[in-house]
Amino acid sequence: LLSARGVRKSFGDQVVLHGVDLEVQRGQCVVLIGASGSGKSTLLRCLNLLEQVDDGVITLDGLDITDPTVDADAVRSRTGIVFQAYNLFPHLSVLDNVTLAPRRVHRVARAEAEARAMDMLRRVGLADKARARPDDLSGGQQQRVAIARAMVSSPQLLLLDEVTSALDPELVGEVLDLLRDLRDDGVTMVVSTHEMGFARDVADVVCFLEGGRILEHGTPQQVLGEPREARTRQFLSRLV
Ligand code: ATP
Ligand code: MG
Repeated sequence: LLSARGVRKSFGDQVVLHGVDLEVQRGQCVVLIGASGSGKSTLLRCLNLLEQVDDGVITLDGLDITDPTVDADAVRSRTGIVFQAYNLFPHLSVLDNVTLAPRRVHRVARAEAEARAMDMLRRVGLADKARARPDDLSGGQQQRVAIARAMVSSPQLLLLDEVTSALDPELVGEVLDLLRDLRDDGVTMVVSTHEMGFARDVADVVCFLEGGRILEHGTPQQVLGEPREARTRQFLSRLV
């Protein structure tokens, strides 16, 4: 579904991605792990064209999205992204947060947008909170709304950047359980996380990033259980 070849990205004279290759098959859950600053967020942002790559080619479902003439908004609507901070609009209800993009960007009629949004809210277990304001929800519930919002436009690919990092520990599980359900439903996703338990249980492929390179990738058993690279072993041994 997604193929990245030789992706390079610099900020000023700092090279952040040094030629990353990444393949994501339809229905796969690919997990990015690596130390802070290794380039996980930058890679996800490149996949969604929030950052322009300096070099390399990314194709999504056969379309070269790094082609300068590509419609970036169309690409972004095919690749939902969710960040660490849920970024919901506080003055809008949960339902209005989820229907905003379909109505404004995709010009979907209100009734249809709301029907789709309610389907998604049901899927994330929050249909009863449709009329609530984000501030009245827990952090875990807000993050589930953010995931519903990303999913409501039926993206081909869901990108999740440390979506549990800002949550209180007791709320992490409900969000990870939701991601597990989405994976089981066949949603293709690329997830950056520090949650190694999630990587072990849910990932089809784990990629270890260091210094802007994918140093090794493979099944969770291989990368987390029998890492080939000394740097991967070091990274894993520093985690508790
Ligand atoms: P973390 O685990 O802390 O989220 P990360 O692996 O996501 O880290 P990135 O956020 O991709 O790492 O950052 C990689 C490097 O790129 C860092 O050194 C960071 O300072 C730099 N960087 C990221 N975004 C920018 C930007 N917009 N301008 C300048 N430098 C940036
Ligand atoms: Mg990051």
